[in-house]
Amino acid sequence: MSTPIDVQRARRETPGCEHVLHLNNAGAALMPHLVLAAMTQHLQLEANIGGYEAARQEEARIERFYTATAALLNCLPEEVAFVENATRAWDQAFYSIPFQPGDRILTAQAEYASNFIAFLQVAKRTGAKVEVIPSDEWGQVSVAALEEMLDERVKLIAITHVPTNGGLVNPAAMVGALARARGILYLLDACQSVGQMPIDVQQIGCDFLSATGRKFLRGPRGTGLLYVRREICQQLEPPLLDLHAATWTSPTSYVVRPDARRFENWEMNYAGKLGLTAAIDYALSWDPGEIERRNRQLATLLREGLRAIKGCRVLDLGQQPCAIVSFVMGNIPPCEIQHRLHSLQINVSVSPREYTLLDMDQRELASVVRASVHYYNTEAEIERALAALHELCE
Ligand SMILES: *Cc1c(COP(=O)(O)O)cnc(C)c1O
Repeated sequence: MSTPIDVQRARRETPGCEHVLHLNNAGAALMPHLVLAAMTQHLQLEANIGGYEAARQEEARIERFYTATAALLNCLPEEVAFVENATRAWDQAFYSIPFQPGDRILTAQAEYASNFIAFLQVAKRTGAKVEVIPSDEWGQVSVAALEEMLDERVKLIAITHVPTNGGLVNPAAMVGALARARGILYLLDACQSVGQMPIDVQQIGCDFLSATGRKFLRGPRGTGLLYVRREICQQLEPPLLDLHAATWTSPTSYVVRPDARRFENWEMNYAGKLGLTAAIDYALSWDPGEIERRNRQLATLLREGLRAIKGCRVLDLGQQPCAIVSFVMGNIPPCEIQHRLHSLQINVSVSPREYTLLDMDQRELASVVRASVHYYNTEAEIERALAALHELCE
């Protein structure tokens, strides 16, 4: 039995709700008060007793990061690394894979720019090839097309679960079933899906998953995480090692630590790590299925309202679009819409062509407005945002 989201509780626990109408949860969601408190308390402690001493005193709470993330993703604590953002988490995984000339990297149409730039760099360096899996009639990764493409040269499947520029949800678990059956490495960018919907790495079947703290998880900026499946962790040496990831054992040798923390740095933002831990624990206090359900309800309300505005085109792909709503309105540039809404304390963002270049070019889009809801938004807020957009059109 699941209980619906207590929206009033969520709002009471989110100081930002008093100040802004926040529809930029895909950029950075509003932090709950608990997250802010965890960070400020730790900064205060560092100031009072010293940074190393504070970390030692709070060791148990800092270690909670690994068990909390394991509970969130359904994995083991030793399969989790704390990284300063999702891009570096993804990079640490991707650049650890030893590519050979002719190896194939398969990715998807809506892939994120930072990931694609890394593909191109590695292709240039190693002679590996980057290939894009065709999309199905919904704009999702075509699982049938992917199956056709698979052969022994495919070294990696790397796709984004939910892209940065719209409501598309790729069939991550169906891709995982194919990767698993063939023993192909599978790296999932789950930056926009973790915190927005239930994520179970066993069910998805990925080898790596990267996510950020500040988006739907509602953690602080400058935090991210990486999941690495235990069975492959020790086969891959991260591209960057330090004295935390490895131990210098003799003048000519070092030993890399066995768990996923081989992908971490020694120095990290402890206040941020504690803030992210608080955000994950907070997320675990809600039913993730109910978070997803409420997000879809709010996003649907927003899409329906947008479709009723003359000249407005809702652009979300996928069979069941999620909390990210993307649109354009007549000839009004997306950045102007963002600007005008901002002056009314309504936060949305703009997703430019070059963040998801293949998808945007295929659909001939220069940029889109991105309005992303979260469970603490209200129906009244959606109505207010729609009214403001109506007015802007006139
Ligand atoms: C935001 C985003 C990233 C990058 O996350 P950072 O924490 O900023 O590094 C990666 N992939 C997708 C799909 C994103 O939306």
